[in-house]
Amino acid sequence: MTEEFDQVKRIVVVGGGTAGWLVAARLAAHYELSSETLTLTLVESDQTGPIGVGEGTWPSMRTTLNKIGITETEFVRECGASFKQGSKFIGWSRGAEDYYYHPFSLPQDHAEENAWWSWQNLANNEPFADSVSPQPAVCDRDLAPKQISMPNYAYALNYGYHLDAGRFAGLLMRHAVERLGVCHIKDHLIGVESDSDGDIAAVIGKNYGRIEGDLFIDCSGFESLLIGKHFEIGKVDCSKYLFNDRALAVQVPYATELDSISSVTLGTAHDAGWTWDIGLQHRRGVGRVYSSSHQSDEQALEGLKSYLKREAPHVDFESSSPRKLSFESGYRSKFWHRNCVAIGLSAGFVEPLEASALVLVELSAQFLTDQLPAYRSGMDAVADRFNRQFTYRWTEIIRFLKLHYAISSRDDSAYWRQHKESDSIPESLRSDLARWNYQAPWHHDEGRIDDLFPSASYQYVLYGMGFQTRDPVLRSRSHARRLTQYRERQLRTQQAQARFCEHLPTNRELVRQLQSQSFSSVPHSAVERL
Ligand SMILES: Cc1cc2nc3c(=O)[nH]c(=O)nc-3n(C[C@H](O)[C@H](O)[C@H](O)COP(=O)(O)OP(=O)(O)OC[C@H]3O[C@@H](n4cnc5c(N)ncnc54)[C@H](O)[C@@H]3O)c2cc1C
Repeated sequence: MTEEFDQVKRIVVVGGGTAGWLVAARLAAHYELSSETLTLTLVESDQTGPIGVGEGTWPSMRTTLNKIGITETEFVRECGASFKQGSKFIGWSRGAEDYYYHPFSLPQDHAEENAWWSWQNLANNEPFADSVSPQPAVCDRDLAPKQISMPNYAYALNYGYHLDAGRFAGLLMRHAVERLGVCHIKDHLIGVESDSDGDIAAVIGKNYGRIEGDLFIDCSGFESLLIGKHFEIGKVDCSKYLFNDRALAVQVPYATELDSISSVTLGTAHDAGWTWDIGLQHRRGVGRVYSSSHQSDEQALEGLKSYLKREAPHVDFESSSPRKLSFESGYRSKFWHRNCVAIGLSAGFVEPLEASALVLVELSAQFLTDQLPAYRSGMDAVADRFNRQFTYRWTEIIRFLKLHYAISSRDDSAYWRQHKESDSIPESLRSDLARWNYQAPWHHDEGRIDDLFPSASYQYVLYGMGFQTRDPVLRSRSHARRLTQYRERQLRTQQAQARFCEHLPTNRELVRQLQSQSFSSVPHSAVERL
């Protein structure tokens, strides 16, 4: 093959949901596009739209938006977005009104000291997250993580977003097409054409005909047109670890424009799954996730109805029609095959308990941007690295989600009892749980520096749910000095909490201010002092 024919010059993204537009925008913001060097075409069906759910993000979304070139003010205004500082898990431990936070900020001084030790020694029954971070108190009061005077994407406390998925895809589309030069085709694909080596040569639109490319990015959602249907790459089934395979989603208005907007995703456990409750500017998104092996659709509907009666009594449930979504818990055995890479729902999906789907899209887009193969002959090596990296990430996610179930004390239904059966728990999690009986999770637990869930996340969930790590008994020679340091640190956490609670606006107030004012665009360090 001559060098010219070997070059990767035409990228085709199939699918215009959040995944497709995020990947297209990320690539187009980085690479110069022209007919001589690189073209980027996104084709999406004019018959079926995006899935329209996926409304909670991680803090990584701030970096992604910044790299794409969208200001935070524009994003918040256009997407009805609010600020998310983590998750509040209700009823996971004992099934009563118990709750705990998994905040986005790490415990104070996490890099130097294991917060478990000071909590164990000094906290006097205070919940773990409240004792080591000022963020839960801020979330209790529905406060925002920053002030209007702070720059775009800077923060006092780490945060991501709650956003309107439909509006988000629209904003990304306009930005990618009008400002970054992505070519947009609206046509339903009806076929795939292969070349003599088995690579995809073109996809075939019903009206448009052949759309040729050198690299195809399959963002076609659950349809999985290229990686699943064309290449028949199967899925690794994870339903033996995570049982949920259905969701009922509904959009709920606020009772009044003054209702507070929660700064966390509320995740309330029920007898066969859990219910999410996400506050945007103009509405809430509520959804019941459940296992069809443990609950019928009718029971799930009744469960959603009683949740709304309790948590949104102003809503006339009979006139709202929840959307039913079915999914298989699993991920592709290979994400990148020949000249096709799958990103988003076409690559896999597991229940959205920690909102981990969009972050995988962001990481995939980042990988592609950093390591985009310039030549077809160099593509297989990059594909191999991508496959290894993302297989690892999926197993990490499954392990972490399973932790929420495996250590629950609930035994009020077959669902919860089965979640604790040993063969439903990944082997690596079982062995870590055995170790955590004696040693709290800490940096050296994790295999890699860029793991999705740091040891702090494991601590928030374990100790939030009442897991007991035994006192090591043995005292180090510096025991007394460490106690003094911990007391000082605890005092600093309490002072920070008081400062934040006094100076931060509510989530509702900050989004209101953003309708007429903007965050400043001066360069910043991510953390701003209050
Ligand atoms: C119940 C539920 C809750 C979720 N909650 C979260 C969350 O809180 N946080 C999070 O990070 N993620 C969440 N997710 C995942 C999130 O919704 C997705 O990761 C995200 O929306 C990306 O979807 P997508 O772009 O891959 O697919 P889709 O949005 O389904 O887009 C698929 C695209 O492919 C196109 N297409 C399909 N067939 C054809 C064809 N024949 N020809 C041309 N185009 C075609 C469609 O037109 C569409 O544009 C959730 C998912 C579910 C199911």
